[in-house]
Amino acid sequence: IIEVNNLKKVFGQLEVLKNVSFSVNPSEVVAVIGPSGSGKSTMLRSLVHLEEANGGSIRIGDQYLVRDGAYSNAQQIKAMTSRMGMVFQHFNLFPHLTVKGNLELSPRLVKGRSAAEVSRMSRELLDKVGLADKADVYPSSLSGGQKQRVAIARALMMNPEILLFDEPTSALDPELTGEVLQVMKRLAGEQITMIVVTHEMGFAREVADRVLFMADGEIIESGTPEQIFGNPRHERTRSFLNRVL
Ligand code: ATP
Ligand code: MG
Repeated sequence: IIEVNNLKKVFGQLEVLKNVSFSVNPSEVVAVIGPSGSGKSTMLRSLVHLEEANGGSIRIGDQYLVRDGAYSNAQQIKAMTSRMGMVFQHFNLFPHLTVKGNLELSPRLVKGRSAAEVSRMSRELLDKVGLADKADVYPSSLSGGQKQRVAIARALMMNPEILLFDEPTSALDPELTGEVLQVMKRLAGEQITMIVVTHEMGFAREVADRVLFMADGEIIESGTPEQIFGNPRHERTRSFLNRVL
């Protein structure tokens, strides 16, 4: 469903992505691990066009977002990026809207759905993330774990085929990560395709179908969790895992 080929990104003199290539199959859960500054967020942001690549290709379904460094037109890009939802480390909820308001804004504005329809969807999704009783409160009165579950429900309101997560639990107190990982684990068991940048090695090991290890703007190694965690081929993967496990 996603194919990335020789993706390059530079910030000034800094080569942040060097010929990154990988593909993701429909319904697959891919975990991306690697040291700070290795380009994980930049790679994820490139997929939804929050960053523009300096070369290479990204194919979403049967369309190219960018092909050999040349981007599709704005309308085509919008069609592709609307198939994806992204959940950030810092939730990015609208503070002046209630939980329900946060969920319903985009589908109303972007998809033109009716008030009744989005209201039904938001109730369903809040129930799914265990927050049925929080529809009418403001984000400021929620815990970090609750905010992140709202952010996940909000992403799901747009019916994405692909969900991207950028360290969804790393801003949370340790006792709140479990409730968010639980929701993600449940989603992983459904048909949705997921790419999860994470520091949670337990999650990667248990939930991912495949793990990509990134360092210095490159994918050093990719494999099943069993292979990456049990028998890493590369010295850099081994030394990273020794540090974090
Ligand atoms: P972390 O685990 O800390 O989130 P990361 O793997 O997500 O790290 P990126 O955020 O993709 O890493 O950053 C990769 C490199 O690109 C870093 O050296 C970072 O300083 C640099 N970088 C990222 N965004 C920008 C930007 N907008 N301008 C300049 N440099 C940037
Ligand atoms: Mg990052």
